[in-house]
Amino acid sequence: MAKTRRREGPNRGDREGGAEELGVGLSAYTEALFAQEDELQREIRGEVVRRGFERMQVSAAEGKLLHMLCLTADARRVLEVGTLLGYSAIWMARALPPGGELITLEIDAERAQVARRFIERARLGGIVRVRVGAALALLRDMGPAASFDVFFIDADKENYVAYMEEATRLLRPKGILLADNAFWSGRVLDPEADDADTRAIQEFNRRLAANPRYASTIIPVRDGLAMGVKL
Ligand code: SAH
Ligand code: MG
Repeated sequence: MAKTRRREGPNRGDREGGAEELGVGLSAYTEALFAQEDELQREIRGEVVRRGFERMQVSAAEGKLLHMLCLTADARRVLEVGTLLGYSAIWMARALPPGGELITLEIDAERAQVARRFIERARLGGIVRVRVGAALALLRDMGPAASFDVFFIDADKENYVAYMEEATRLLRPKGILLADNAFWSGRVLDPEADDADTRAIQEFNRRLAANPRYASTIIPVRDGLAMGVKL
């Protein structure tokens, strides 16, 4: 099979390295058929690349999958941890009905402001609310009235386990827990890994797998999307 050129196309599927075995060519094929970005999404990707954050943002294929999971869950309320410039939030918010709400948490005020502008331009200002602050504190402030259908974790890895605990509290039964970077570029395979982020993701995956309150797996898209359905 021909070796795919590494810089081909905007939607390479291996940005964080972990899904490289799946084949860049097949990711590009899937995205070209099923997950084409519109002009605004391309502009956001361009801005993310310009800032050197491309590896932090979900791919188009993963964005489409998030969108479809929101549809499948018949989601009206979605919580996202880690906004960056709003790319994944826009994919998910486009799956919500009128009157739906997506709350996305971002610690960096400047990123949140840029994200708000993109969200306005996507005409999703009435659906998406970007809240600035440390996500764990913001989540712990949410009372039991704040129930969510989908809860997407994509921020500081060391808090993944704590975010899962908040998700378990805040998700409705049959709600969907999602967490990006579950493969961590393949580093989860190293049982002797000693960096804090790898250990945190390994611990998150172990706890999710063993948690009787979820049916769970890792979807092998890009860098791995952990998924749990709350029972
Ligand atoms: N979901 C986004 C990418 C998020 S990147 C997308 O795919 O489009 C992770 C983001 O989490 C970064 O913007 C970072 O500033 C933010 N972040 C890191 N630690 C955080 C924390 N403790 N609370 C809230 N946001 C945090
Ligand atoms: Mg990520």
